[in-house]
Amino acid sequence: MAPPTILIVGCSIAGPTLASFLLLSPLPASQKPHITILERSSALRTQGQNIDIRGAGITIIRKLGLEAVIRASTTGEEGVQFVDKEGKVWAAFPADRSGKLSTPTADIEIMRGRLAEICWRRSESISEDVQRDGGKGIEYVFGDYLDELEQDGEKVHVRFAKSGERRSFDLVVGADGLQSRTRSMAWGAQGEEDRVKRLGMYGAFFSMPKEKTDSAWRKWFHASGRRGVMLRPDEQRGKTTVFMYVVNEADDRLMQVAEKGREDVKAQKRLMEEYFRDVGWESRRIIREMMATEDFYYDLVGQVKMDRWSKGRVALLGDAGYCASPISGMGTTLALSGAYNLAGALTRNPNDYTAAFSEYEAKMRPVVDRAQRLVPGMPHILNPETAWGVWILNTIVFLLAQSGLIHLVIRYVGPPANTVPVEEYGFKKLPEWTDSADDSVRRF
Ligand SMILES: Cc1cc2nc3c(=O)[nH]c(=O)nc-3n(C[C@H](O)[C@H](O)[C@H](O)COP(=O)(O)OP(=O)(O)OC[C@H]3O[C@@H](n4cnc5c(N)ncnc54)[C@H](O)[C@@H]3O)c2cc1C
Repeated sequence: MAPPTILIVGCSIAGPTLASFLLLSPLPASQKPHITILERSSALRTQGQNIDIRGAGITIIRKLGLEAVIRASTTGEEGVQFVDKEGKVWAAFPADRSGKLSTPTADIEIMRGRLAEICWRRSESISEDVQRDGGKGIEYVFGDYLDELEQDGEKVHVRFAKSGERRSFDLVVGADGLQSRTRSMAWGAQGEEDRVKRLGMYGAFFSMPKEKTDSAWRKWFHASGRRGVMLRPDEQRGKTTVFMYVVNEADDRLMQVAEKGREDVKAQKRLMEEYFRDVGWESRRIIREMMATEDFYYDLVGQVKMDRWSKGRVALLGDAGYCASPISGMGTTLALSGAYNLAGALTRNPNDYTAAFSEYEAKMRPVVDRAQRLVPGMPHILNPETAWGVWILNTIVFLLAQSGLIHLVIRYVGPPANTVPVEEYGFKKLPEWTDSADDSVRRF
């Protein structure tokens, strides 16, 4: 039987990780799947700021031999401080390095672009090994996307929008993020509003030069009007990263500019400027740097909720199928675990994709449900409307920090990263990897 042909849409975290594990199956190289990874951006997308890897996510990067290279690339964040307009620290919550407690700062905090680069390069090196042994490995197509997708029971037929090329695959996996086009093409554009649950929160991520007031601590500033800013360290590049967000369901402009994506960054920046120019604290500097930066990413904060993550020969992976949102602290861990479990299920059921997709679903569904269960009232309760509300919030976090009760709170509401099953699928064991192209990627 010919090896299956698999198209993976999206080259970020989930996509290349799935490809890597599919190629680590115990099958001989000539029988391993023929994989194509399609990425819309013409080069790897490096925007985005600090993301975390927790619990099972760490076990999975270890299986790819990536723990050392990832730990050498972390942002150096010590923990989270709640600060007010004057810069006064109300509470400090240090990171738990034991991996037992899911503190807001995880054991591994890394820049998104750096992690995407590592996942991509790792998949390349695994693909080269397979090619040396006579397999097909991975074909990467950057700078294109699908504009047609149809399936007839035997194959999935797609058209690459820019090249106009038509191709057919045995399976297609959408790993193309929160606003997945694979999802809307396979399930229909009409239901998208129900699938992407908005949380009423919109945010911009960018980085700026580090200044004396910045430290290894994440500083979280709350302003009235349900607005917030986080400044975070990025030690590798000597920068400070910014996440500024608004919780507001009434202002349609926040969604309208999100829908434009990279096409209207100017409008996104203008809107953020309007929201943040009067908040005080470090807003002048932050707005000045935001206006100047090219490294800018704006999106809605939402969750993807679906009854099933596969339809015929098309499956969804990572944020495309079950985005839990940045406030869950689980997005990257779910993407890594989903990739691992989907590759495992396909390896175990090589001739039965329906059984494989059901197994993947059964493994991931309980943990996705838990990761998406936000504290009732979130994100509104953590982002008060009035100045009084902000004062009360700061007082509560002060009391939680002083009394030590925060540990109890974290046990109940912290990200459920240790509940993701990491079963053995017989993937080839790998030694620790050193990225020979490392110098070229330090710029991220
Ligand atoms: C540019 C960017 C910045 C981000 N910044 C942050 C951040 O600062 N903090 C945070 O918590 N999370 C951020 N995220 C989300 C975070 O990366 C994910 O939650 C998580 O890592 C899961 O990754 P994923 O691989 O499932 O999806 P994503 O990381 O969203 O990757 C999706 C990939 O698919 C590509 N793509 C999209 N549409 C198409 C298409 N039609 N055809 C082909 N390719 C397509 C995208 O360019 C991207 O490379 C960001 C995502 C992106 C894309």
